[in-house]
Amino acid sequence: MCSIKQNLEQVTRQIDNAAQKCGRDAAGVQLLAVSKTKPIEAIAHATAAGHRQFGENYVQEGVDKILHFRPLHSDLEWHFIGPIQSNKTRLIAEHFDWVHSVDRSKVARRLSEQRPDDMPPLQVLIQINTSGEASKSGTDFEEVKALADEIDQLPHLTLRGLMCIPQPESDHDAQMVAFAPLVALFEEMKATRPHFDTLSMGMSGDMDAAIASGSTMVRIGTALFGARDYSNRGE
Ligand SMILES: *Cc1c(COP(=O)(O)O)cnc(C)c1O
Repeated sequence: MCSIKQNLEQVTRQIDNAAQKCGRDAAGVQLLAVSKTKPIEAIAHATAAGHRQFGENYVQEGVDKILHFRPLHSDLEWHFIGPIQSNKTRLIAEHFDWVHSVDRSKVARRLSEQRPDDMPPLQVLIQINTSGEASKSGTDFEEVKALADEIDQLPHLTLRGLMCIPQPESDHDAQMVAFAPLVALFEEMKATRPHFDTLSMGMSGDMDAAIASGSTMVRIGTALFGARDYSNRGE
C-alpha cells in the first residue's frame, strides 16, 4: 500500500467535488504537488502514481531533486514557489519550468537574462501580497500592472498569471473573502493578455474555497505528503 498514491486519489476527488459544487470543470484546476522538505522517495511514489507537476520552495533542494529526476522522467514539470533572493535567480532560471513567486522587477530581469537560450521561456506568475502586511513577500496591488508590463517586455519570460498566499483562515467564507481581490484583478488583467490563464491559489487548508473562487492551480503539500519536518533543513 502506498499512502501517497491514495492521497493523490483523495485530493483529486476533493478537487472534483469542489469543482462540481460550483459548476466548474475539474479539468480547469491543476494540482501542483508541493514536495518541499520531502525526500526523493516521496516524489518517486507520486511519479509512479502518474503525477507530473511538483512545487519546491528552496532553490538548492529543488535543483538537487530536478537533477535526480531529469534522467528518469524528462516529462516532469518543476515549479519554484518560494521566496526569491536575487543571488539565487540563476539556479532557478537554469532548472525550473515555472516560477510562482516573482514579486519585483530586479528578480524578473535577472530570471530573463539568466534563462538559457536553448530552454523554453520561463513561465512566471506574479505573487501578490493579499494581506497587505509589510513583512510578507509579494507585490502590492497598486504595483502589479507596472510589473506585469515590464515582464511582458522580457524575452525569456512568459507571464501566465497571479499567485497568492493569504493569511491562514479556517472558515470557508473568510477564505473566499481573502481570495476575492486577487480574483477580480486576475479577471481584469486576463482581458488584455493572451497568455494570462493561471491563478495559483489554494493550499491543503483552503483548496475548496480557492476552487470556488476560481483558482486554476492549487498547491498541495500536507494533504499529499503528510506534515513537514523542518528540523534538519540546512538552507
Ligand atoms: C508549503 C507551501 C504550500 C503547500 O502548503 P500545504 O498547506 O502543505 O498544502 C503551497 N504553497 C506555498 C507557496 C508553500 O510554501
